Amino acid sequence: MKLPERGLERDDLFARMDAYRDQDMNWRSGRTFAYIYDAGREAERVGKEAFASFLTENALDPTVFPSLLKFETDLVGMATAHLSGGDEAVGSFTSGGTESIMLACKAARDQARKARPNLARPEIVLPTTAHAAFHKAAEYLCLERVMVPVDPETFKADPEAIREAITPNTVMLVASSPSYAHGVIDPVEEIAALAREHDLWLHVDACVGGFLLPFFRRLGAEVPPFDFSVPGVTSISMDLHKYAFTPKGASLVLYRTRSLRRHQIFACGHWTGYTVINPTVQSSRSGGPLAAAWAVLNHLGDDGYMDLAKRTLDATRRLVEGIEAIDGLDVMAEPEFCMVAATSDDFSVFHIVDEMKERGWYIQPQLAFGSSRENIHFSLHPGNADKIDAMLEALQESVEAARARGGGSGLAAQVAKMAESLPLDQLDESTFGQLLSVAGVDGVDLPDRMAEINEMLNALPRPLSEKLLIEFINELYVCRDDGCPPRAA
Ligand SMILES: *Cc1c(COP(=O)(O)O)cnc(C)c1O
Repeated sequence: MKLPERGLERDDLFARMDAYRDQDMNWRSGRTFAYIYDAGREAERVGKEAFASFLTENALDPTVFPSLLKFETDLVGMATAHLSGGDEAVGSFTSGGTESIMLACKAARDQARKARPNLARPEIVLPTTAHAAFHKAAEYLCLERVMVPVDPETFKADPEAIREAITPNTVMLVASSPSYAHGVIDPVEEIAALAREHDLWLHVDACVGGFLLPFFRRLGAEVPPFDFSVPGVTSISMDLHKYAFTPKGASLVLYRTRSLRRHQIFACGHWTGYTVINPTVQSSRSGGPLAAAWAVLNHLGDDGYMDLAKRTLDATRRLVEGIEAIDGLDVMAEPEFCMVAATSDDFSVFHIVDEMKERGWYIQPQLAFGSSRENIHFSLHPGNADKIDAMLEALQESVEAARARGGGSGLAAQVAKMAESLPLDQLDESTFGQLLSVAGVDGVDLPDRMAEINEMLNALPRPLSEKLLIEFINELYVCRDDGCPPRAA
């Protein structure tokens, strides 16, 4: 692939780009239960206009673009008020939940290093339901992960297990509000009591739920305390690009006090160029996501969000009832947010995902981990609130079709057995290629049905499935000069 010899005309250019988009999921249909958080066309338009309007402004230097400083401090101010932060609470606008979590982990690590100069291997205690972003942060920041089981019935973090995992090297405890997989809220008050007792940093990951949960509470839903109202909560991550419905690239990391945030900020005078002071991971930073988030929050306002929250909460209740009425399908845990996981004793749930896709619906497969068995996941948003009945009909049909296909093909178990004898560090590309082709992945073209692949990933030891996924992505992101984007199922 080379640059076109002559630049393309606008019309031609956008026609091509739209053609590439043909294969994308049509998220405006309200038939997608993941990846998309849709508050309607008006909020979409406001977000896009503000995004485009401030796209070129650079938050690298807030003294040159004070408008962006204003947007950021306003957003953090609204967020800390929303989550019971006091006068001392501060925060930063980041590109997403992963960055917010990474920064909180860095701040906790560096604060601990300062307080404990002999700290050799800083550890973070992670319930099995904690988001993958903490594992990523641990890899990037050289933190040791100490994993603890969650309650096998409620899928909430177990404070006793956390207590037992605390060592002199612990620098951070983690609670989720809610955890993504099952949509349940960890016992933040109990975990915060532990953090206080041991003088530890507690991060509450409210990436997905932090924004809407206070609205759900006002609507009468049972929402246990999870924010800065709980003494012992040190920092909170809250995404805006999920349930505040702003364009992507928008999250917040919040700290109880300003002195905690200091450990997050990077400054560099050791080079010949301009002075670098970065509060977050990015240095050059588009004003687009920031302006868009400011615009959408101010456009929707408290009443707008109450309305969206009510529609979403009602839809969740109808979904939970509907799933429970389907023979062979069980809701896992008791969802406390608009996210629901369901599983089956009778057949492979991964077939349901494929069957739904054939009927034009997107739901998410989740692999087994710890005490959580493999399941299907629904993240609801206002855009699918009036599609629940139609979706449940398709789900009923898909469950019947999945039941007809029965359990796994046996292939997955076979692959897992094969994998057991393979020494992990000696696996080469050709072994991975073989494993992938057994599951029906040929090169980077995915088969229409993903059940076999999911079954295989589900059956493999996790270090091996992680390696396999890395190989797959390393293959996928290669320029193919055939004029088409690679086909993903
Ligand atoms: C989505 C999510 C994250 C990660 O956020 P990204 O914006 O995808 O980086 C972290 N924690 C929870 C609970 C989430 O749902």
